[in-house]
Amino acid sequence: MSFQNQNLVPSWLDADTQEALLKAALEAQKNAYAPYSKFLVGAAILDENGNIHSGCNVENAAYPEGTCAEAGAIAAMASQGSRSIRALLVVGNGNQWVTPCGGCRQKIREFATATAPILIANPEKILAALNLDILLAHSFGPDHLTII
Ligand SMILES: [Zn+2]
Repeated sequence: MSFQNQNLVPSWLDADTQEALLKAALEAQKNAYAPYSKFLVGAAILDENGNIHSGCNVENAAYPEGTCAEAGAIAAMASQGSRSIRALLVVGNGNQWVTPCGGCRQKIREFATATAPILIANPEKILAALNLDILLAHSFGPDHLTII
């Protein structure tokens, strides 16, 4: 499998783990609740213990109350006691990259390093690897609030 920016994927994130992330995100995407936009998204997180947590977008008739797939996956991860995103995969339909929205980039920033791989996929394959260095440059994060 080859995709854009594959050099941003560390060696420990092997092909089997990438596949497992895609599979988990696809399973979540099937359950996406998007009756308004019909824009189905799934996300999967690999945590510091090697466990995978997934989420889907959940829309709401009061539109701003809807939540993104990444937010759901982060909530699932936190609810299991995990506190580190080692890698994250987002899957959407089509060939256009479905990247995390601005709000989700900040949510990911809370738990991920600047170089943690963020994989962008469609149902057939991974399309690209990105990270927060690219998606959220010069960001504000938990380290700013640490008392020295
Ligand atoms: Zn989002």
